[in-house]
Formats: sequence, structure tokens, C-alpha cells
Amino acid sequence: MSRPFNFSAGPSALPMDVLLQVRDELLDFAGTGVSVMEISHRSQPFMDFAHRTDTAVRRVLAVPSDYHVLLLQGGSYLQFSQIPMNLFHQKKTADYIHTGLWSEQAANAARQYGEVRIIASSYETGFDRIPEINESNINLDAAYLHYTENETAQGLQFSKPPVSPIPLVCDACSSLMSKPLDISAHDLIYASAQKNMGIAGVTMVLLNPAILDKPLASTPQVLDFSIQAKKQSLLNTPSTFSWYVLGLTLEWIERVGGIDVLYEINKKKAQHLYGVIDKSNGFYTNGVWSDDRSINNVPFHIAETNLEDLFVKEAQKNGFHGLKGHQSTGGLRASIYNAVTLDAVQALGAFMREFERTHG
Ligand SMILES: *Cc1c(COP(=O)(O)O)cnc(C)c1O
Repeated sequence: MSRPFNFSAGPSALPMDVLLQVRDELLDFAGTGVSVMEISHRSQPFMDFAHRTDTAVRRVLAVPSDYHVLLLQGGSYLQFSQIPMNLFHQKKTADYIHTGLWSEQAANAARQYGEVRIIASSYETGFDRIPEINESNINLDAAYLHYTENETAQGLQFSKPPVSPIPLVCDACSSLMSKPLDISAHDLIYASAQKNMGIAGVTMVLLNPAILDKPLASTPQVLDFSIQAKKQSLLNTPSTFSWYVLGLTLEWIERVGGIDVLYEINKKKAQHLYGVIDKSNGFYTNGVWSDDRSINNVPFHIAETNLEDLFVKEAQKNGFHGLKGHQSTGGLRASIYNAVTLDAVQALGAFMREFERTHG
């Protein structure tokens, strides 16, 4: 069986080892004789697995011991609202850094609950960089400062977390587990699993309990961080299968040597593709400042834009899947998350050079 190289932005490629393990265990989870989809989330085998997942997350990411690790539903998208619902109680205002599509969506959702102030933006220059963040622009009366660690559509990424005198909240949806991140420098980090650490249906929230306040009055229990923490994310039935695949992916991350090892490979993958783009004499373009380029998503255009559809078609024919850019930006994009191998990236690089040779 030959599978295409998968560059999908999300849901995205899974490690082959994880897929095979899911297949092997599908009919019999942990010796129960039934699949993980068919047992209670409160049964001992599932609870044991959930406990293992929790300790693996804490180990792999060096999560401070007092932080909560929540596994919730609704995707990162729901966090755009759940975060202000939980943190806006006293101070109905928050600061946001505007770097592209996802930070914009996060800010727009928060506006429903209070005042949102954009304290830095690269909108004016077409999201070609991480804007300079002047600490004196951060409002000390804001509930938190929000930033998007990796802008999945625009392909920009922070090289380090912003320094913030107020609680720091991070959308790490497309980068968590792909590079080292100082969890303790943040008060809340969230990421759905389907990019670097599993499949859709489960969203990780790492949370410093010190910033929790009473949520807004209309907040349902299922969206109350304190209640979810007390119930260990098992207030109601979670997405057990997604949780299971996340757990297996974490075990895979540890088997291959952890995040530091993946980071080195991820950097190589990104350097390879940006190299192909930069050496194409303008055939391929990526306008992001080199220090701010994403190691997770490599968006690019073909200067002759009418060749882009042909590129996608030819790529598909040659075994490269998922290269169409985000609908908001157009163009092309290679998402090169943890499970995408260096071999796959080098094969794509060779295809790109060949396409340039025959159409340039
Ligand atoms: C994919 C993505 C989201 C949305 O995640 P969902 O799981 O679809 O809700 C939010 N932020 C970033 C940075 C993303 O890449």
C-alpha cells in the first residue's frame, strides 16, 4: 500500500506507528475485549489511560506541578470564547496581539464579553512579521494578554513568548509539542490536538489556577475551567477516542526522544522548504521576515499565480496531498507538523524544484 505524503493543515498527518497501534488495538483496548470507543469513560481501563496521558503531558512539556491539564471539547475555536468567559469577571477587558487570521478570530470572539484592545499588529504590512511588542502598551488593568504562537494561515511564528506584566494566554493550536515552549512563562495555553499531537475532538488547556476567577454569570458548567479541573475533564462524556489517540501520540513523542528531538527535525524540514523557495529566483515566494517564519506551516505563492491550481493538481498526481493554501490567503501551503517526515519534505522539495524547472 502506498500512501501519499500528507501536508494537510489540520486535521493532519499522524505518525505511522500511531495509526498501526490504533489498528492493532481497535477491537481490544487494554485487554478489555472491546474497543476504546465502547467502554465507559469512568471505567478503570479508561481512567488508567487518562492518568497516563496526564502524566505524559506534564513530563513532555515540563508543565509546572500546580497547573491544571484539561482535555476539553469544542476545539481551539471554543477557547476563543471560553477564555474571556472565565477570565473577564473582574476586568472586562483584555489585550490581544494581532498577527493574522487566528489571532483576529480570537479577538473578535472576546469582543462579545468585554473590551478588546489590540496592542500590537502587523496588519498594515500584510502580516509579514511578528510586530514589535512595546511592554508599555500593555494595559495593566487588562485580564490577560493573548497571542497566537503560530499563525497557521499566514505562516508566522513567535521565536519567544512576549514578556507580559499581566497573565499571558497563548493559542498554541498549531505548534504545541513541535518546539520547546516555556509553559511557566504562560498562565494559559490551549491547543486542539489535530495538528501536532493527535486528532480532532480534544483540546488541551494548560492553566495556572492562580488566574482563575468566578466565570461570567451565564457560563455553563461544561465551560467553567474550575469545574472541569475539579472533575479532571470528566464532567460529562469526553471524546474518548480522540483522548486515546492523543495519549498514543504522546507516547510516540517520548519514544522518538521528546520535543527537543522533534524540534531539531522540524527546523530542518522548514529550512529545507524555505531554501527551495528562496533559491527559486522569485518563482516561489514567501514574504514573511526570515526570523519570524513558521516551522509548522510554510505558505508560498507562485509568482505566476495561474500556475497554482496546476501545482496542486500535479502534486496530487505525484503523491503530495493537502498543499492548497488557506481559503483566506489563497496560494499554497505545506504544513509540516511533527508526523510529517524529513523524507516527505525532501520529496516535496524535489517536486517543487522539478515543477519550477518545467514551468519557470
Ligand atoms: C486550527 C487552529 C484553530 C482552530 O482550531 P479548531 O480545533 O478548529 O477549533 C485556532 N487557532 C489556530 C492557531 C489554529 O491553527
